[in-house]
Amino acid sequence: MDKHPSAIKPESWLVSAGRSSEPGAPLNVPLVPASNFILGTERGYSRDDATPTWEALEEVVGGLEAGRALAFASGMAAIAAVFDQLSAGAVVALPDDCYQGVAGLAAAGAERGRWTVQRLALDDTAGWIRACATADLIWLESPSNPLLAVADLEAICAAPRKPGAIVAVDNTFATPLNQQPLEFGATVSLQSATKFIGGHSDLLAGVATTRDDALYHAIRTSRELNGATPGTLEAWLAVRGARTLAIRLQRAQETAMVLAERLEAHPLVERVRYPGLPSHPTHATARRVLRGFGSIISFELRGGAEFADAVCRGVGLVRHATSVGAVESTMERRAAIPGQTHLPPSLLRLSVGIEDAEDLWADLDQAIRAAAP
Ligand SMILES: *Cc1c(COP(=O)(O)O)cnc(C)c1O
Repeated sequence: MDKHPSAIKPESWLVSAGRSSEPGAPLNVPLVPASNFILGTERGYSRDDATPTWEALEEVVGGLEAGRALAFASGMAAIAAVFDQLSAGAVVALPDDCYQGVAGLAAAGAERGRWTVQRLALDDTAGWIRACATADLIWLESPSNPLLAVADLEAICAAPRKPGAIVAVDNTFATPLNQQPLEFGATVSLQSATKFIGGHSDLLAGVATTRDDALYHAIRTSRELNGATPGTLEAWLAVRGARTLAIRLQRAQETAMVLAERLEAHPLVERVRYPGLPSHPTHATARRVLRGFGSIISFELRGGAEFADAVCRGVGLVRHATSVGAVESTMERRAAIPGQTHLPPSLLRLSVGIEDAEDLWADLDQAIRAAAP
């Protein structure tokens, strides 16, 4: 079987994990579409006992995050399984900028009186450390979607906590290659495998990873009882996508740095947010906690929403589409999404893919110039 992930580099683990070494076994992870199995072992029904294909995805991601992973139907399903752990009246600390689905889930629970929510700026490290002493769920997302604020996970995850408190980190934008929240002391790390892990915009899946045995079993029970299980084909596609994660991410973040610098110098661009730029408010923290700055850039234009919408219509190689972390570059105006009132109207979120950097720049530059008011 595979070497333990600590014995080989993550890049090698991504390629090797989950494969058999048995003579005659398929080289690739088998796609096993099965709801039930012949009784007599621990595997009877897949909603309870998983399929070998989900387990391959769990092995790949768990090894990278350095914990035990559970695969889910989507990133939101994995996230909801963590919120499912809260007792009535719990206190949730949530970033003021985070994925709109998480903000929506937290707000819906608060409206029904299930918990109360406290919002904090991601760079308010002292505020998060105080929240660790009183909150039952400390929810961090770093870098954040879409403002790309970076939290000092090292300091926050080491802070004293209320007994039983969960520190959860949505690690989707960093991927486990750029950041390992469990190594900092987080209780659980979340991935929307729909994004970088899958990497081809052709599946929905999520993964929750923890080192805490009791929490692992509780999250697993939540998956079972809520039926939040991954599709077997999706899990298989996610494993296949993960094989190339390291080279995709490396290429995309190199290009992102080039594009971020050029956008920052562009006469029609007001502001660029990219953790790798020295002008980024949490650049120093990013240098310390992240191994790479990622492939997502947010930028504001010198103009309003109409200008930004015209740029989205004017790009060609870059596709006007939501989501991030795929081989193809995509861009959208995030304030167009309902409930995202905290965002500047012209803010465009660009997910840089693996196309040629000069081709991408030419496309962005022509679209910005052509749309200028
Ligand atoms: C997309 C995303 C999610 C939700 O994942 P789904 O797979 O769409 O359910 C959660 N967090 C972040 C940061 C995301 O980008």
